[in-house]
Amino acid sequence: MKRLIARLVFCLLAMGALSLPSAAPPARPNILFIMSDDHAAHAISAYGSKVNQTPHLDRLAREGMRFDRCFAVNSICTPSRATILTGKYSHLNGTPVFNRFDGSQPTVAKMLQAGGYYTAMIGKWHLGSDPTGFDYWNILPGQGRYNDPVFYDARGARIYPGYVTEVITDLTIEVIKNRPKNKPFFVMSHHKAPHREWLPHPRHQALFANRRIPEPATLRDNYAGRADALREQQQSVFKDLTRRDLKLKPPPGLTPAQSNQWLNVKPTEVEIEENGVKRVLRGEALNAWKYQRYMQDYLACVQGIDDNVGRLLDWLKANHLEDNTVVIYTSDQGFFLGDHGLYDKRFMYEESIQMPFLVRWPGVVPAGTVVTNLVINCDFAPTFLDLAGQAIPADMQGVSLVPLLLGEKPGDWRKSFYYRYYHDPGHHNTRAHYGIRTETHKLIYYWTKNQWELYDLVKDPDELHNVYHDPAQKDLVKKLQDELKRLKAELKDDDQFATNQPPDGVDGPAPAWAPDFKPPRPKAAP
Ligand code: CA
Repeated sequence: MKRLIARLVFCLLAMGALSLPSAAPPARPNILFIMSDDHAAHAISAYGSKVNQTPHLDRLAREGMRFDRCFAVNSICTPSRATILTGKYSHLNGTPVFNRFDGSQPTVAKMLQAGGYYTAMIGKWHLGSDPTGFDYWNILPGQGRYNDPVFYDARGARIYPGYVTEVITDLTIEVIKNRPKNKPFFVMSHHKAPHREWLPHPRHQALFANRRIPEPATLRDNYAGRADALREQQQSVFKDLTRRDLKLKPPPGLTPAQSNQWLNVKPTEVEIEENGVKRVLRGEALNAWKYQRYMQDYLACVQGIDDNVGRLLDWLKANHLEDNTVVIYTSDQGFFLGDHGLYDKRFMYEESIQMPFLVRWPGVVPAGTVVTNLVINCDFAPTFLDLAGQAIPADMQGVSLVPLLLGEKPGDWRKSFYYRYYHDPGHHNTRAHYGIRTETHKLIYYWTKNQWELYDLVKDPDELHNVYHDPAQKDLVKKLQDELKRLKAELKDDDQFATNQPPDGVDGPAPAWAPDFKPPRPKAAP
């Protein structure tokens, strides 16, 4: 922290922003943590997207630091959120699947609040229990809904007319505007978009309608040589998208229950109308159409996020908060954009586990820089504490990213990290697995199937060739298995949740917070 203050004071002096001795150094910056839900890094142009442009997120990359190897250690919503709050893996924070987060445990929000920060949480929480450690919170119930969303706080629920991404941005601005001015702030602004069912703002609805979105190289992956898990999953763009996902309209005359049933069907043929001509799509033509429909809506939702991040950045600038606010943009995990034929996440493959991570702090974080160190979501909480000049508890399992943010090149940075996915049986029938990723390789063990995969990420970045059974890899397999065993023990993963998962308490086929959820005493927001 001392070096952070020294660097900061130096930078501010150099910028002429600080004149000694009258002005005290603003040693503790504000922290604005913007997190979307399911936004893959490869749908951000700063990360080389081939499918869309995100000028405002790119601005964060241009004016700050882009992390190219930031990963979720359990790639689904609720567990990633629990890890971000606690700095711990799922097996220690007790949230391996969609179960209720125990809010009585220590969290980074509580620590920052106790350390003198004004703390706020706005938007998608998705942890099944009410937030703790926040001076202000106002959250979506469960998954929340895209239009006219319900929010609730300790006093009750209310409906906010409008589109969810804009409402969350409005509330974030309101909270920062009305904060106590004698404290630095820590604000978590968590978006729902671009989560399934990918419902864009009307303004963006037609943005991609007439564009042909390039297909990823692995869209028709046949899974040859890979574990059974890929063949057993139910998150295939071609097979598992429903009529609801594809935004097909139910025929007239159905009851609401029949309509719902109709929308839940995974169609094997679809009638479309183009230029007044109707035709039925099947087989490969239908597959290609499904990919386009999926991506058109997903990317239109992303555009809403990008617009609103831009609006928030402009507001910070206009309100002279730019220089002393660390702005972070991330997503709770990555997402398959047709990669390996998939949508959703869960698997340990790159597109799923990679989180975008952009950090801007003018004058301190060198602008336009890229970091390739292996970084995980356990590192976020220690980083926030370090930025705030607070001690990092020894039981947090991540490390502070502040040295990287200062442009340093630590020689002892981690060379591998551990991953574990539990939700099996669960949504999308994704087999449980664990593994490690190094800077060059990935070893995956589907423990319920006793099947292994090994990928050479340098020669095979698309992870198409499982070389686990290649005799030439025998020594490497042994080395990586030893490393896997070492990390598992070091992180205290004793298979606590391997066979005894906590019950789903947050999400599921019939969530308690369905779109037609009736909040208690709803009233329109002012
Ligand atoms: Ca998510």
